[in-house]
Amino acid sequence: MENMPTVKEIVDKMYSPSKDDIALVHKAYSFAEEAHKDQKRFSGEPYFNHLVATAMNLAELGMGATTIAAGLLHDTIEDTGVREETLQSEFGPEILFLVQGVTKLGKLKYRGAERHIESLQKLFVAMAEDIRVLIIRLTDRLHNMQTLEYVPAHKQKRIAEETLEIYAPLAYRLGMRRLNRELEDLAFAYTDPENHKKTSELLKEKTDKIDLNLSKTLNELKRALAKDGVTNFKTDYRVKGLYSLFKKLERKEMDIETVYDISAIRIIVTSVADCYRVLGIIHHEWRPMLGRIKDYIAVPKPNGYRSIHTTVFTGDGD
Ligand code: MN
Repeated sequence: MENMPTVKEIVDKMYSPSKDDIALVHKAYSFAEEAHKDQKRFSGEPYFNHLVATAMNLAELGMGATTIAAGLLHDTIEDTGVREETLQSEFGPEILFLVQGVTKLGKLKYRGAERHIESLQKLFVAMAEDIRVLIIRLTDRLHNMQTLEYVPAHKQKRIAEETLEIYAPLAYRLGMRRLNRELEDLAFAYTDPENHKKTSELLKEKTDKIDLNLSKTLNELKRALAKDGVTNFKTDYRVKGLYSLFKKLERKEMDIETVYDISAIRIIVTSVADCYRVLGIIHHEWRPMLGRIKDYIAVPKPNGYRSIHTTVFTGDGD
């Protein structure tokens, strides 16, 4: 059974909440605990854990008290005897609106290819009306995917397919890249177990080498930037998600040696000018691979994503 966060842990994750914010989250937490007290999940654990997990996911995404409270309450109308009037009088019209929105979206079900996936995605966005409704639904789905192993086998595949076709691309469109990756990778294990296994094994062989090379390169990079007077920057790095790696491997006859963006370092600076300056420093330090520069600052992605990508040789064959 999962170790569920307490209400205090949820509040601690929030960004400078006011007294009223904290009181609201506490109230929603107690209300949901009471409303779901007789329900259990497929795993046998209290249903309430699902609401706590959803709320924690929302807090981690930096959402405010209203959205977190609505996250705690999102299944009350659908799954308990709580009436809309009660939610309205206890929590006000805004939270009622969010919970109604999440409930409405839950009724929209993916049934495979009989419907155009793109139009279903658009329907989701249109029906949500408020972006917070989508974000609650996405964090709800994340926890459902994290606990999918307990769901009866005949339901698993449909839920995973729906996640892969609808929810993960929605997260991507909202610019929530990490959530997108998590949803994709969790779903991939169920939609295509064989290739999931194959891709994990291919990646595993490379991971140790990647970790070592990344931290070395990161140190060299920080030194190079400091030497050129770039001081106001943050760095982090990511390893490509399994599903997105598989999609790429499919196009490359499963040859992992031809995938150049398995690992990537991200440098976040405070101005566009610094972005191009950092690119110059990197290309001075490491030889860039031809044709691999993508300037999403000059040409942003449709979801608003703006950055510059490049691939360089760091000396260890990667
Ligand atoms: Mn739910």
